[in-house]
Amino acid sequence: MKPSGIAENLDRIRDRIAAACARSGRPVSSVRLVAVTKYATLEQVRALFDLGVRDLGESRPQQLLERAAQLPPDVRWHLIGHLQRNKARRLLPVTDCIHSVDSFRLLEALERLAEETATAPRVLLQVNVAGEAAKHGFDPEELARGWLEAVRDCRHVRLEGLMTMAPYAEDPEAARPVFRALRELRDRLVSDREFGSDPVARYRESTLPELSMGMTGDFEPAIEEGATLIRIGGALFDAG
Ligand SMILES: *Cc1c(COP(=O)(O)O)cnc(C)c1O
Repeated sequence: MKPSGIAENLDRIRDRIAAACARSGRPVSSVRLVAVTKYATLEQVRALFDLGVRDLGESRPQQLLERAAQLPPDVRWHLIGHLQRNKARRLLPVTDCIHSVDSFRLLEALERLAEETATAPRVLLQVNVAGEAAKHGFDPEELARGWLEAVRDCRHVRLEGLMTMAPYAEDPEAARPVFRALRELRDRLVSDREFGSDPVARYRESTLPELSMGMTGDFEPAIEEGATLIRIGGALFDAG
């Protein structure tokens, strides 16, 4: 499709984001659009960049690395797909935020790497709220059990929030309970009962401010339930 089509799509999405923010009494600046470019051509990605979009998301580490080499350095790259520990070393220097940390083992590996390379990567923990067998992510109770220890162990990695994907459904409203559950899990993790009275955790200020949730089919309910990062691919590149 022509880059002009992308500009129109972007306008439409921004209007819908603004409307969802207005409905939920949130400032538009509290929601960041991550343009998911996994199915886009390099030309389309460049068009997005020229339109001022700086947050780009890729689900495959290899493609993220290749594209980061082809685009200007001021792109903020978001990894939104599964990361194998052996790919992490190359990824850290170019990635602004890893949304898809789906196990404590991966988190520990990133912490070791961050210490070794004196970096402070921003990460989100991916939660499999709906318990789908085919999806990666923490089981919510598993995360609640291990969370305090993880916060204590992360001295370089910055744990900034949670991410989830809702099961595919025709009706966007079907995703709302999943998004609400992610927000409630976050609120529970950072509540006094779970960790707020722990001095180390307090010191690290792990309030998990970011909620990465909502895609083309369901970003409006996600915003209404508190999303701070929405990940949109299809609606940017689809014609018509
Ligand atoms: C592909 C993908 C998206 C974007 O999905 P669209 O429906 O194309 O907007 C968002 N998040 C993740 C994790 C993805 O893999």
